[in-house]
Amino acid sequence: MSEVATSQPESSSAQQQRIPIYPRSVKGFYRRIKSSIVILAYSVYFLLPWLRWDRENGPSQAVIFDINARRFDIFDLTIYAQDIFWLALFLAFAALFLFFITGIAGRVFCGYFCFQTLWTDVFMHIEHWVQGERPARIRLAKSKWTAEKIFKIGLTHFLWLLVAFLTGLAFTLYWGNAPDLIVDIFTFNAPLAAGVTILFLTLTTYVMAGIAREQVCTYMCPYARFQSAMFDSDTIIVAYDSVRGEGKKGRHKPSKELIKRENRQQQGYGDCVDCGYCVQVCPTGIDIRNGLQYQCITCALCIDACDTIMDSVGYPKGLIRYSSENEAQGGKTNIFKPRTIVYGLVMVVIAVLFFWGLTTRSVVDISVRQVRQPLFVMLSNGDIQNRYDIKINNKAAKPMTLVVSLRGLQGAKLDLGRFDKVHIAAGGSSTLHVNVRMPTKEITRENQDFEFIISNLNKKDNLWIHESNFFAPKKYIKQSPQGAQ
Ligand code: SF4
Ligand code: SF4
Repeated sequence: MSEVATSQPESSSAQQQRIPIYPRSVKGFYRRIKSSIVILAYSVYFLLPWLRWDRENGPSQAVIFDINARRFDIFDLTIYAQDIFWLALFLAFAALFLFFITGIAGRVFCGYFCFQTLWTDVFMHIEHWVQGERPARIRLAKSKWTAEKIFKIGLTHFLWLLVAFLTGLAFTLYWGNAPDLIVDIFTFNAPLAAGVTILFLTLTTYVMAGIAREQVCTYMCPYARFQSAMFDSDTIIVAYDSVRGEGKKGRHKPSKELIKRENRQQQGYGDCVDCGYCVQVCPTGIDIRNGLQYQCITCALCIDACDTIMDSVGYPKGLIRYSSENEAQGGKTNIFKPRTIVYGLVMVVIAVLFFWGLTTRSVVDISVRQVRQPLFVMLSNGDIQNRYDIKINNKAAKPMTLVVSLRGLQGAKLDLGRFDKVHIAAGGSSTLHVNVRMPTKEITRENQDFEFIISNLNKKDNLWIHESNFFAPKKYIKQSPQGAQ
């Protein structure tokens, strides 16, 4: 029976001195997946601000976060500041999705999709391209400062800063019209916030992906610390098959008489040829043969490394592989466990709520507030007047012309001041100060319910009804011909 090493995490002091890591490059299935994700993520991130999109009010940017207009346009979806509820739902869904995936496949998000991993990967590629493979980089780091070393280290840091700057620049282009904003940035006419954002992201990207690297995953990321609470014996992790790898006598280098697998097995040695390749490719510098460690980001590069070695010596692949504790003990991995089912069900509920809410939400937000100070006034002609503030947000991509009328208040008159219609720009808002007047002879109750009808002249089916209340003091009800409340 095979067994994967899943020992407790090694203790690690936050004060311990950092050991520089020089990851070796590796080829293989998981490396190809990682590279494809990096290319896809970078293409989307850097090119999306340049994608144009046709909207009702003309061509625009496909994804733009317009702070001044307090609206986010994401393709055909427009989200306003008042739609923050949807953002909260989306974040709740994202958090649950992370718990769900972690319960099933461990830190797979860290290894393949996290920004820190993606950017560190690119920075390591740059380092490798400029300074060479791992032995050359170690030699360079240990060598005296020569012109060659200054050039190589300088070029590496320059390219890191360039990628970091482009990262900050691309991020900023999501917050304005990219073709205009980029000209403003390079002619120093952009708002100060744009400059500060680029500077901040340039520095943080450079430090996080270039200098701190695995330290971010190990010491700074809270997810690394609490993810173990989501692990159980069915969670799929990257694991070393210690029974197969160690045999009875342990691992051994492939000396002449220990190159054939049968010979090794006869002599009690395991399949691990102790080449160290799995350790050398690890971006966090750990030895997966020591068991599951919290520093492991499940990038699977050690699987590629070990499979390469197993191929080269003619042993079966999979000495290091994705596995679960249950599988290692001869059982099966059960993905459909109560915890993942509960996470999955809650996610489905949130997703349904989210899409139902987004697809059925109104293109306007209307709130009606009755003015309380004073609650009513008596006009010189004897009419009672109540005052209301109607706030309307136009969340559509087109301007709107709205008219307001009353329903359910016999004999009342509506006074909109100088206007009979309201024009509201796309994404704009307006507050109407509305007077409703009632002759005392029409007043039948102290509080009379009625409705404001707000309709869109440009779209006949856009009609919004808001309930409100008209107040008149009791003493005026007596003057009503109907008399009774
Ligand atoms: S141990 Fe393997 S899976 Fe874990 S971080 Fe290192 S290379 Fe990636
Ligand atoms: S790569 Fe495989 S064979 Fe080499 S040391 Fe690691 S586990 Fe052993």
